[in-house]
Amino acid sequence: MYDYDLLVVGSANADLVIGVERRPAAGETVLGSDLVVHPGGKGANQAVAAGRLGARTALLARVGDDAHGRLLLDSQRAAGVDTAGVLVGGAPTGVALITVDPSGDNSIVVSPGANGRLTPEDVRSAGNLLAASRVVSAQLEIPLETVVEVVRNLAPGSRFVLNPSPPRALPAEVLAACDPLIVNEHEARVIVGTDLGDSPEDWASALLALGPRSVVITLGARGALVASAAGTARVPSVKVETVDTTGAGDAFTAALAWRLGLDEPLAEAAAYAARVGAAAVTRAGAQESFPTAEEVASP
Ligand code: ADP
Repeated sequence: MYDYDLLVVGSANADLVIGVERRPAAGETVLGSDLVVHPGGKGANQAVAAGRLGARTALLARVGDDAHGRLLLDSQRAAGVDTAGVLVGGAPTGVALITVDPSGDNSIVVSPGANGRLTPEDVRSAGNLLAASRVVSAQLEIPLETVVEVVRNLAPGSRFVLNPSPPRALPAEVLAACDPLIVNEHEARVIVGTDLGDSPEDWASALLALGPRSVVITLGARGALVASAAGTARVPSVKVETVDTTGAGDAFTAALAWRLGLDEPLAEAAAYAARVGAAAVTRAGAQESFPTAEEVASP
């Protein structure tokens, strides 16, 4: 009935990555490795993750008419993602400047570029894509008013998934559409906006009180937690050797959104997503690290 299992509306960035011994403090210069350019951005990452798992996936995004934009389009197509909804031009392709230290921790500065020009009008023009998609996922590396327009244009029966990253306070209209709202600890704290203790169960209650239909909290190597009116459950972590955590949250979110669209219960979909997220941290890079469904089935 739907042409796409998942439509991702979001950012596409060129990730410019430099390895460093130690990430620089304010005012400090450190020398690093040779520069490596990867396709990235939360929207593009999620679409590639879903495509690689075998989901019928489309991306609604904006890139510049430049080499970074072409790199991003190529990586989407290589993962089998439909790129008819990727608009070209208006500003340079978004760029993320990333430093990563030997423990895999990173620091990131983003220039939104063309991502900032993905407008509500672009969403309205993509009505056919929205109507054809079982699940629609978004993040916050595009203008908030564009995400609001996505929520207003969801097809009846489709499901909306939001990873509010980078986090900010959200309008009630957006929160009410989320099923689920997917956050890590930092995002939970910003969105709730008041002091939260150390219990992820308490963060989930505070988030649910803001109106989303369900909440998923990702906890890195500690796994995840799902919460809805039906109750709260921990999702066990999967023990792996961590090489690079870049993109783990995007892989998790894409896998979760896809499995929810297949009508899996939230806890089951999150358990599958945790295996996808764990697989993604065992390899370097973001999109390059995302597993196929076969790799998730036999780790
Ligand atoms: P984000 O990047 O948004 O902060 P997380 O780092 O929490 O997201 O990662 C998303 C999910 O990926 C986690 O909930 C977990 O299931 C999985 N994951 C992340 N890091 C690890 C790890 N080191 N070992 C095992 N699983 C991990």
